[in-house]
Amino acid sequence: MTKTAYVEIHLPALRRNYALAKTLAGTARVWAVLKSDAYGHGLTRVALALPDADGFALIQPDDAVTLRHAGIGAPILLLEGALEEGDVDTAVQHRLELVLRSEHQLQWLLKKAQPVTAWVKVNTGMNRFGFNPERALAVVRQLQATPFCRVAGLMTHFACADQLGTPLDEPWRRFMQVVDATGLPFTAANSAALLRETCTHGAVARVGGLLYNNNPFYPDTRLWPAAAEPVMRFAARIVHVGMLQAGESIGYGAAFTARHDMRIGIVGAGYGDGYPRAAPSGTPVQVNGQRAALLGRVAMNVLAIDLSALPEVQIGDEVTLWGAPGLSCDEIAWRCGTISEELQCALTSRVPIRQIVADATVSAIPDEQTAPAQCLAHL
Ligand SMILES: *Cc1c(COP(=O)(O)O)cnc(C)c1O
Repeated sequence: MTKTAYVEIHLPALRRNYALAKTLAGTARVWAVLKSDAYGHGLTRVALALPDADGFALIQPDDAVTLRHAGIGAPILLLEGALEEGDVDTAVQHRLELVLRSEHQLQWLLKKAQPVTAWVKVNTGMNRFGFNPERALAVVRQLQATPFCRVAGLMTHFACADQLGTPLDEPWRRFMQVVDATGLPFTAANSAALLRETCTHGAVARVGGLLYNNNPFYPDTRLWPAAAEPVMRFAARIVHVGMLQAGESIGYGAAFTARHDMRIGIVGAGYGDGYPRAAPSGTPVQVNGQRAALLGRVAMNVLAIDLSALPEVQIGDEVTLWGAPGLSCDEIAWRCGTISEELQCALTSRVPIRQIVADATVSAIPDEQTAPAQCLAHL
């Protein structure tokens, strides 16, 4: 039986968003960030859909090996470097580039004495990982004096790039201290920095959110490129249509009470699928290209919407929950007090994924394992 809730991943839109990132990055290379299963879009699916990508970046070494086995030859950066000592061997074996962000990782590199490629991370205010500028400079000098290690460049990750009111001057000054002293190439920009500060583009921009149509500044749209397109569409079928009389409430906790008679639709998706329970009444959905409002509490498998203004909508009709033109995931996330990434990562494995491999063509491929070949065949 078909599931009432499903996700579509629109690969042509993903490719166009990547091309857009390339244009914005100018001469910088763009490494697509694929951590957390490509922000819930599917690790190998996304990587194989970007055959011309300059490179990829992710966190789990196993994921990088998965990509190598899937035939990905482009550079792959491990954003947190080696998570255990053996990852240094894995990196050498599979040509993975390592971020070097902690003293214990430096000890592993020196002990292993293997031909690794490393990006030395400078702490510019995130204060989780990375070396302070003076120490970073010393680490670079030390590695450059070893015959086996290649220092590819310097890396940093801004704490506040997505907060337009917070200037990047101080983190930038700290980073440039090391860049200027070493003359090394650098990678500093995530999506937010790519969009707001050209000087941060460097040799490589590490772009995640923009590829998936997530505006890091939402609801501020001033720096957001109008050409970016939704990639993930979360949709579900209407499984029941009914009436709510004035004064009647709907759903758990009677959280919404009708002030006038209403036509309502029950949609076959809930928090058990990955639609956020935090979404309040009034959160928009889209039916037949028109907006309708969520009513009452989201349940595990269903949610209710107002169909009063949409008399033609029937059982079996499709409702877009996010990811259509005019209904971004950003808007839904913002209504819930979170960001698109959290919603996308929280989609559950119970939701089947169809990938759209060419514009206006849908292939039903529920299983990630079978996806890549299909996807390439349609490129
Ligand atoms: C996730 C991540 C990125 C990508 O960030 P976006 O804001 O999604 O573009 C870049 N660099 C590092 C170190 C990351 O962890």
